[in-house]
Amino acid sequence: MSLPKSIQKTINEFSRLPGIGSKTAARLTFYLLTKSNEDVKNFGSTIANLKEGLVFCSKCFNISESDPCKICLDQDRNIDILCVVEEPLDVIALEKTNYKGLYHVLGGVISPIDGVGPENLRIAQLLDRLKKRNFKELIMATDPSLEGEATASYIVDEIEKLKKSDKIKKDLRITRIARGLPVGGDLEYADEVTLERAIEGRRKYR
Ligand SMILES: [Zn+2]
Repeated sequence: MSLPKSIQKTINEFSRLPGIGSKTAARLTFYLLTKSNEDVKNFGSTIANLKEGLVFCSKCFNISESDPCKICLDQDRNIDILCVVEEPLDVIALEKTNYKGLYHVLGGVISPIDGVGPENLRIAQLLDRLKKRNFKELIMATDPSLEGEATASYIVDEIEKLKKSDKIKKDLRITRIARGLPVGGDLEYADEVTLERAIEGRRKYR
């Protein structure tokens, strides 16, 4: 027996989401079918409008309703510290700590298996930022996973090269968030206390 087209299509869409298998996708679809027409339409139009009015901040590449974003415009932040993260969700996680510097959102990690190279991330933009303005400290806050570590290492290598040719000031301090975060873990899922300790216990990268 084949399912009605609209049901099958919805199941297919749900199963394309991360962490959702075909069984969960079917369960979610049949759950929606128990709801009123209006509820289902609201759900659909919320998703349809998800990207309305959202932009990437041209400075930090966080997702925002304005460009520059609120964090980049905030006068009370320490503009001498720049924290490099993978995803906008990492910014949200770090905003729950006492960190008050600026951010740079890479938009992912280097992952050859997934076809993601340095050129697919905002690494060139990060290096540009470091060339244009003398930050005192750069915190590498990519996830403590294989890809996160490899990405941090790649970026630090690029910075070292630019330091040698005097394009980036030699006194830029590069730090890595402390261990204590689970290896292979995801920054955005770390609890606030662990994250707070990780950022306070950061140390010199090399
Ligand atoms: Zn910004």
